[in-house]
Amino acid sequence: MSAAGMSSTHAAGAVVPPPDCRPGCGACCIAPSISSAIPGMEGGKPAGVACVQLDAELRCRIFGQPGRPGCCGGLQPSQEMCGASREQAMSWLATLEAATRP
Ligand code: SF4
Ligand code: SF4
Repeated sequence: MSAAGMSSTHAAGAVVPPPDCRPGCGACCIAPSISSAIPGMEGGKPAGVACVQLDAELRCRIFGQPGRPGCCGGLQPSQEMCGASREQAMSWLATLEAATRP
């Protein structure tokens, strides 16, 4: 996937490259709900619950494998989502989850 679509811009228009995924974070595998089936969580997962595929280092066990939900593969790190810390990411994602709850 191209990362360009996820880039944010300065007011001056310069493109800010998206950040790398922070080791030991896992916020986007915990805070949001996922409606797609995940191996081990066939009905998806509720918000605020760690995905069963998250390992002890908070990395995805099924990265790159066919059973990984498409939404996971499409999600790229961004300044907006990831913030400066895991706590910021959890907070931003929880707020987004609440705002988009049906
Ligand atoms: S919130 Fe960002 S830094 Fe944290 S696991 Fe997800 S992509 Fe990585
Ligand atoms: S399947 Fe992998 S990337 Fe998707 S939420 Fe679970 S641990 Fe995260």
